[in-house]
Amino acid sequence: MSERGRGGTPESPSAQGYRARVKSLLSVATRRQPEAQGATLLIYHRVGGRTTDELDLATEDFARQLDLLEAHDVVPLDDALDRLDAGDTRPSVVLTFDDGFEDVHRNAWPLLRERNLPFTVYLASAFVDRPMVWEGSTATGRPGTGMSWAQLQELVASGLCTVGNHTHRHVRPELLGEAELDACTDTVERHLGVRPRHFTYPWGVRVAAMEPALRSRFRSASTGELGRNLPQTDRMRLRRVPVRRTDPGEFFAAKLTGSLGPERAYAGIVRTGKRLGLRG
Ligand SMILES: [Zn+2]
Repeated sequence: MSERGRGGTPESPSAQGYRARVKSLLSVATRRQPEAQGATLLIYHRVGGRTTDELDLATEDFARQLDLLEAHDVVPLDDALDRLDAGDTRPSVVLTFDDGFEDVHRNAWPLLRERNLPFTVYLASAFVDRPMVWEGSTATGRPGTGMSWAQLQELVASGLCTVGNHTHRHVRPELLGEAELDACTDTVERHLGVRPRHFTYPWGVRVAAMEPALRSRFRSASTGELGRNLPQTDRMRLRRVPVRRTDPGEFFAAKLTGSLGPERAYAGIVRTGKRLGLRG
C-alpha cells in the first residue's frame, strides 16, 4: 500500500502540527472504547528516513509505539490467520512494512529484534538495493533506497520476518497482472529461498479481477481498506490500519482498541481536505 497519491512540495511544520492536533482531539473524544476483536494489521512504510513524508516515522516515535505494543499480542501474519481460521476472535496485532525500505532494516529492525517482535515485509522486488522511485510516487523528500538481498536474508534468517509479495515493479492497479505477481515471487525465491504466501496491493487499491489469480497463489491478500479482520473476513480482502508520522501517541493507541472511530473520522477529514484542495 502507499498513499503516494498526494502531490506537492514538502509540507510546513504548521500543517503537521495541525494534523496532530486534529487527531489528538479525535482520540480524546472516543477514549472509552470497547476492546478490539480479531486481527489488526498495522501498515508501516519507512522508519527514520529523515523526510517529512507522512509515511516516514521518526525512529523514537516508532520505538514508543513498540513499547505500547508490549501490552498487546503481536503475532506473525500466519498465526493471526490460523486464529481466524479457527474462529478465534481474540485481538492480535500484525506489523507490516510495505515496499522494503532500507531504513526499516537500519532503524526498525534493531528495535524489533531486541523485543523479539515478528513482522511482515511486503516487498516490491525490483527495488532491492535501488532507489524506491516508481511511476506515480509523490512521496515527499529524498527518495529512500530498498534493502539489499543480504539485509533481507538477515531478516528472514532471524525467523521473525515473513516476506510478502507487493508486485515486482510496484505497478499501478490498471497494470496489475499475473506476470507482476510471479516476477516478484520468483525473484524472492531465487534470492531468499522462500516463496511469498501473502500479498498486498500496491497503492492499497483492490482489483477484483485479480482475486482468482491471488487466491490460487497466496494464503492472503491485504488492501488499504481500513478495518480489522474477523473469521468471516475474506482472506483476499484483508483490511489494514495505517500508521502515520503525525499520529500522536494516543491516536496510535486508538488504532489498537475499539472501533477505529478516530481513524475513520480522520480519514474523512483528509478526504474533505483533498476535495477543498488542501494537502492531506
Ligand atoms: Zn507500496
